[in-house]
Amino acid sequence: MSLMQSAKEILLKRRQQAQQNAYFTYQKAMSNAEIKACQQEIDTLLPEISKSEASGKADEQLNKKYSAALNSKKALMQKYDIDEKDFTPKYFCKKCNDSGYINGKVCACLKQIINTIITEQYGINSLTNYTDKKVNSNNDYKKLLEGKYAIMNKYCAHFPDTKYCTHIFWGTTGTGKTYLSCFVAKNIMKKGFSVIFVSAFKLNKIFLEYHLDFNGQYGDYIETLYDCDLLIIDDLGTENCYKNVTNEYFLSLISERLQGSKHTIITTNLGAEHLRQKYDDRFYSRLTDKNKTYIINFCGTDLRQVK
Ligand SMILES: [Zn+2]
Repeated sequence: MSLMQSAKEILLKRRQQAQQNAYFTYQKAMSNAEIKACQQEIDTLLPEISKSEASGKADEQLNKKYSAALNSKKALMQKYDIDEKDFTPKYFCKKCNDSGYINGKVCACLKQIINTIITEQYGINSLTNYTDKKVNSNNDYKKLLEGKYAIMNKYCAHFPDTKYCTHIFWGTTGTGKTYLSCFVAKNIMKKGFSVIFVSAFKLNKIFLEYHLDFNGQYGDYIETLYDCDLLIIDDLGTENCYKNVTNEYFLSLISERLQGSKHTIITTNLGAEHLRQKYDDRFYSRLTDKNKTYIINFCGTDLRQVK
C-alpha cells in the first residue's frame, strides 16, 4: 500500500468514527421513550406551524404547544445527559471535515498523517511517548534546559518566520537534546504545521531503500522529507556510511531545505572534527554556516572551538 493510501485509510477511519459517534448519540436519545415522544410532537407541530404562518394567521395556541415541547425535550436531554450538539459528527479536522482536501488542495491534516506514518515507521518512539504532560512536568529536564527551552519556545511562537531555519542541538547523550526536539515538534504540530521526526539511522535507511528502489515505491517518502515544514533529524552521526548514498542524500536534503527556507533541527553528539571527517566538506560547511544555522550547545563548549 502506498504512503498516500495508508494515510487516506486513517482519514477514512476518523471520518467514519465521527459519524458513527454522532449516530449513536442520536440513537441513544431516540431510544428514550420520553425524548422520542417529545421529538414526535415537535415533528408533528412543525408543519402545522408553517402552514398557519403561511396563511397569515399565526396560531398562538400552536406556538405555545411547540415551545412547550421544545422546552421539555431540552429538560429531558439535560436529565439524561445528552447534548444535541453531539448529533452532528465531531470531525478531527474542522477545516476539511476529515476529507483530506479543501477546494481540491491537500489539507494540512492529511500531510501530517503522512508525516506521522514516516515518523512511526522510521522515527523514534519518543515522540509518541512524550506527552505534553510529561514535557511540562519533568522539572529536572526543565531546569537543565532553562535557557535553551526559552530560545526554542520563542522559536515555536514565531514559527515559520524565525531568524534561523536550521538548528543544531549539540551535546552528549542524556543532555536533553531529544527531549527539547520533542517539545518543539509537539508545539509546531499544534500550530498546524507538518513535522517529521526521524532518526538519522533510519533516515539513512530510507535513502538506501530509495536508492535501490526500482519500483518507485519510496518516491513519496523522499518528497515528504524534502517538503515538510519542520524536519527533525535525531542523532546525526550514528548512521552507517553507505557509499554513494549517505553523504550524497544528506547533502541534497539539507541543501534543498536550506534553499527553500524549510526548517530543520538536527541533534548530534559529534564534535566539529568528527562531523567534518564523517561527511563531505560541503555538507559540513552548509550545516555550520553561522548566518543560517543556530547551534545550541548542550555541552558547555562551543562546537566550532572543538578541534
Ligand atoms: Zn483537514
